Amino acid sequence: MKALVGDVVDAEKVLRNHAVLVEGKEIMAVVPAEKVREFGPDEVYGGEGFFIIPGLINAHTHVAMTKFRGLGEDMPTEEWLGKIIWPMELEWTAREIRKWARIGVMETLMNGSTTINDHYFFAEEIANEAEKIGIRAFVGQTVMDLVEFPHADPEEGLKFFKRWQGRSELINPTLAPHATNTVSLELMREISELSDEANARIHIHLAQSRAEVEEVKERYDLRPVEYLKQAGTLNERLIGIHGVYLTDEEIKTLASAGSTLVHCPTSNVKLEGRTINLQRVLKAGVNVGLGSDSPNPVGILDMFLEIRKSALFANLLEEKAHVLSAREVFKLATAGGARALGIKAGLIREGYLADLLLINARKPWFKPRENPYSLIVYSARGSDVEMTVVNGEPVYIRGTFPRIGKALEDV
Ligand SMILES: [Zn+2]
Repeated sequence: MKALVGDVVDAEKVLRNHAVLVEGKEIMAVVPAEKVREFGPDEVYGGEGFFIIPGLINAHTHVAMTKFRGLGEDMPTEEWLGKIIWPMELEWTAREIRKWARIGVMETLMNGSTTINDHYFFAEEIANEAEKIGIRAFVGQTVMDLVEFPHADPEEGLKFFKRWQGRSELINPTLAPHATNTVSLELMREISELSDEANARIHIHLAQSRAEVEEVKERYDLRPVEYLKQAGTLNERLIGIHGVYLTDEEIKTLASAGSTLVHCPTSNVKLEGRTINLQRVLKAGVNVGLGSDSPNPVGILDMFLEIRKSALFANLLEEKAHVLSAREVFKLATAGGARALGIKAGLIREGYLADLLLINARKPWFKPRENPYSLIVYSARGSDVEMTVVNGEPVYIRGTFPRIGKALEDV
């Protein structure tokens, strides 16, 4: 049994000076710190001055795209895609994907995410790397049929999905149609049927760009959400990404279907100069998760930054201060992401998955300690993460990755 000691903070409660007891992959109990010895834990981590929070959930990543970090910076989005990203993506090999996915996963764990929801080519390699290093990963093989692309064959995507179904505790395969403008309605219907049969998540870019909306309109005379409705995709297993061009009507439809919208604040502002109105989406009743998107454009896979920007950008559209509380925004990156993915995580409760972070809050920017939510949302950074626990196992401890026996210098 392991014990993590400190101030326990999740979206529901703050328990000062408590211990989270972990047995196997689950949280066994949360008790006052002075009682921890009674349980006789084998290992004790943290202590006074630490926060224990649920592992952050990065609900939209392309971890292998670490390879493209910083390339084509300052180019307009279309030019950047055409000149840098797409040509380089044609050159991918399995070996290169493994290397860069490894860097992306290590970076993610160090910065405090315990779960990723990844969407990319060569999903087999990404799933293998993720499992080895020990992150919880929802992995989908990107598929498209309206754009010719060698690594995005729908048959291969299906094979990947079937191979990984029920095979691993950490890796959950998803269905990953690229976007509403690159996948035909016919293929989208097939994917939806498979999702129904297999109870699988569908992870898709949704209303990300003006071009996407225009193409769907031109091809089918539908808005992106109407397209998903026609394909039978609208339910609680749908995870739509970005949504910066959704209408209020479409947002309402997503809410009544119980679907999730993943907000990627940095990516949206950098690539589209736009953000969703987070308050309005939440008020409509949509489940919201937060995501980083790929390291190019965002620069770093650090969900603390995405949480902070979500809180700040929500004010921008309303032109008001404190539109959402720090606690509400923190909830999106924890319980919101867990609901999107259908996992018993995101809260620190008995019987929940032991996906946890130990934050070293013995630093100047965590003083005074009155409001932990505010400190986590506005002060914390990925580099304050002391330890990342996934499925009950410490997979990152201060610069080392015990599961693979590597230190940062080896990366
Ligand atoms: Zn994306």
